[in-house]
Amino acid sequence: MKERLLDTQAGSTERWRQWLETRLARRRDDGLWRERLTMSPSPSATLRDFASNDYLGLARDPRLAEAQAAASRHYGTGSRASHLVNGHFEIHDQLESRLAELTGRPRALLFSTGYMANLGVLQALCDTKTHIFQDRYNHASLLDGAALSGARSRRFHHNALEDLALLLARSPEDSLKLVASDGVFSMDGDCANIEGLSTLCQRYGAALMIDDAHGLGVLGAHGDGCVGRAYSTREVPILVGTLGKALGTAGAFVAGDDILIDALIQFSRPYLYTTAQPPGVTAATLAALDILRDEPERRERLHNHITYFRHHGHALGLPLMGSQTPIQPLMLGDVERVRRWSDTLRSHGFMIGAIREPTVPSGMARLRIALSSDHERSDIDALLDILETLIQRERS
Ligand SMILES: *Cc1c(COP(=O)(O)O)cnc(C)c1O
Repeated sequence: MKERLLDTQAGSTERWRQWLETRLARRRDDGLWRERLTMSPSPSATLRDFASNDYLGLARDPRLAEAQAAASRHYGTGSRASHLVNGHFEIHDQLESRLAELTGRPRALLFSTGYMANLGVLQALCDTKTHIFQDRYNHASLLDGAALSGARSRRFHHNALEDLALLLARSPEDSLKLVASDGVFSMDGDCANIEGLSTLCQRYGAALMIDDAHGLGVLGAHGDGCVGRAYSTREVPILVGTLGKALGTAGAFVAGDDILIDALIQFSRPYLYTTAQPPGVTAATLAALDILRDEPERRERLHNHITYFRHHGHALGLPLMGSQTPIQPLMLGDVERVRRWSDTLRSHGFMIGAIREPTVPSGMARLRIALSSDHERSDIDALLDILETLIQRERS
């Protein structure tokens, strides 16, 4: 009896192995195998980094590191527990107030990552009777959050308000509805039509949720993002921002009114069942917010880089997209072509994200160039030079 059990177990382990091997082989054959790069702490010495989301060059700012070290000494490195046990410190309250203030919302609530914030909102607010509508190009965490919530989930065509309007009109009038969209689309760099989404949501009584991971720190008069103080809590009731991109640290937050934040604290499992953000990270983020306020020249420099890159990119005939943000994808289409360009760029010391399915639809593979205020004009010129060589080589 005992032996039979072991046999069965061995058989099932073998089936698992075969199942995984088949899937891994398929991924390799499709040319979609993913590799991690192991970075050194100062890639700038050998590599020009056009892949990171560190749009304001804050991730390596010594002031953030100092704040992080000081807070770690004071509070301890870890927060030791979740927010509802005893991991919630006054420094977390301070950061929540500052984020609420930055985005012009009554309150904000910290999450450990943006991925968890999106899961946390959708799981807490939606259930199987709720209808969620999302842009087809939304970040994976919004799609996964809808799945976790069990809600009925529909996707509308990218930035197509008329498509969303149709879906909303067809949904049961008395049902709870939530529309979710990225603010700045992470792989395309274009912005959602916040105004249009908000108007539609108000017409159909839907709650609007905007994930401004890539807009926060970069867009808006105060670096407050594509929603921020430009749109009221009534227009955009649920705002998500992340701290690991332009702010250079880690974590995320949800901003909105009392009822939203109370509901998240009570019901959001990705909020409740995880260790609170390390106090050092919180302190570093406070330092980043000071810099955001005191050094608007960083944003200005970044926007000058964007204009400059687009102007010269157009002149060279590069396949630019419509983006006015630091995310400047080159739509190459074919996975092989992306690999060729990416290899050449790498051999000249340029780090650029090669993006392909499943992150983007098949046939829409691209290089995702990310600009930063840390770049020098000469870095962008050097990049444009190689891109010119690449495009001319293809033409000849
Ligand atoms: C990066 C990103 C996230 C995830 O944020 P993390 O803090 O890295 O987990 C969520 N939404 C969007 C749109 C993003 O680009």
